[in-house]
Amino acid sequence: MWTPELPAAPHRHLCTDCGVSRTADPKRCATACQFIHPDYPGLEQRVQGRQRIVEEDTPHPNDELFFGPHRRMLQAALTPASQGAQWTGITTRLAERLLEEGEVDAVITMAADPNDFWRPRPVIVTQASELAQCRGMRMGYAPLVALVEPALQQGLHRLAVIGIPCQVYALRALQPEWERDHGLTKLVVIGIPCSDNTTTERFHEFLALVAPHPQDVTYLEFCADYHVEIRTRQGQVRRIPFLSLPLSQLPSDFFPLTCRTCVDYTNSLSDLTVGYMGGRGEQWLIVRNDVGEHLVSLLGSSLRSTSPTSAGQRFGAVKGFIRNLERSAGGLPLRRMPEWLRPLVSWLMPRVGPRGLEFARTRVQMKAAETVIHLRREEAQRVKHMVPAHIWNLVQPHGFRPTAHEVNPPRSVIPIRAEGP
Ligand SMILES: Cc1cc2nc3c(=O)[nH]c(=O)nc-3n(C[C@H](O)[C@H](O)[C@H](O)COP(=O)(O)OP(=O)(O)OC[C@H]3O[C@@H](n4cnc5c(N)ncnc54)[C@H](O)[C@@H]3O)c2cc1C
Ligand code: SF4
Ligand code: SF4
Repeated sequence: MWTPELPAAPHRHLCTDCGVSRTADPKRCATACQFIHPDYPGLEQRVQGRQRIVEEDTPHPNDELFFGPHRRMLQAALTPASQGAQWTGITTRLAERLLEEGEVDAVITMAADPNDFWRPRPVIVTQASELAQCRGMRMGYAPLVALVEPALQQGLHRLAVIGIPCQVYALRALQPEWERDHGLTKLVVIGIPCSDNTTTERFHEFLALVAPHPQDVTYLEFCADYHVEIRTRQGQVRRIPFLSLPLSQLPSDFFPLTCRTCVDYTNSLSDLTVGYMGGRGEQWLIVRNDVGEHLVSLLGSSLRSTSPTSAGQRFGAVKGFIRNLERSAGGLPLRRMPEWLRPLVSWLMPRVGPRGLEFARTRVQMKAAETVIHLRREEAQRVKHMVPAHIWNLVQPHGFRPTAHEVNPPRSVIPIRAEGP
């Protein structure tokens, strides 16, 4: 497992240091960046063989509107779960299987920085046994994409990459060039969903607010049952309801504009997305194409899976979220729930709130609204280039419409029947 020497990242305005700016040709950011002038329909067409289906006038808009092109979805768990994994370790096990079967020469992913457990460090892995060190979630950014060319230069021509959506966008944008000019013969992309990322330094501030001994925390996850789970080195497990998180104590720039305006929550350009949002306490797989199907088959009987289920209604939750976001983005205080009501609502939400796939749709729709609200306020001139048509479809039921200056013809927004109680 190794990390090549990389140059420092040059300044970029909206940037998550995916790695393109540290390559020999940093000007490629102009065409490879999710935040500059992305072309999701074009890349979906090239990578998945078709664009996502956005059906008109259906009682339940097609799930591809929310989750991107896919063949099928699964609620799943690896049995037994891998030690140290974020969930059950499906992601790193898939990468192990690819190396064990000799199907790829190397896997590019993140390990923990030796000086800071929470900081991601991009690595090129050639031994399946080393992937155990890559398990678990890190908070922050690291230049994953910058490792592709050094790997190719070492004769590693068949690669698997595990990445978050802003990294995967750049990977897919540069893939044809690597195939044409650098000898890439195979690229398998295992995507994880991503939202609300921030710098590692800022994440340490958050840990200090939620844990009395932040240096002991080894695990944190925002679970689909409306709780944050925290585990410590000493084996303690704490579950904090979302409503009790000290979010109001975070500065307004705690989440960078990139992560507040990210348009591809579920990693639509991966071959297989491995998350948890639609999994009701288990993992959630979005199988997007033949490569994704093959990946699932590599796990054989160690993967326990069922069809995902869905319950509850998202409309009110998304509406409340948008109302609060508009107030806070406009500098007004949030409408807070009285203290006495919080335990009751925290108890009720996992039982009557959106669950399973409806929880995942809720989060994707919230994120789409967040993108439009924050970009309009902070970088209005970017809306036209950064917001793909399907994001307007997602937010339309909540009264958002693009102005003439906000759409890039010939993209169009297909009307969808109004959602509501
Ligand atoms: C910042 C962040 C936010 C996320 N938000 C969501 C969410 O809202 N909803 C959801 O369903 N899933 C989310 N995920 C994904 C989720 O946390 C799990 O990673 C995923 O479900 C896979 O679990 P696993 O047990 O299969 O992973 P493991 O087998 O433990 O492997 C985890 C993989 O993720 C990679 N990784 C860890 N941190 C980073 C990072 N910072 N950048 C790039 N790669 C990284 C590791 O290198 C490893 O390959 C998020 C992940 C990150 C990093
Ligand atoms: S996120 Fe990547 S592609 Fe975009 S500006 Fe930063 S380094 Fe360049
Ligand atoms: S939220 Fe989006 S922009 Fe931020 S790190 Fe995750 S994928 Fe990248």
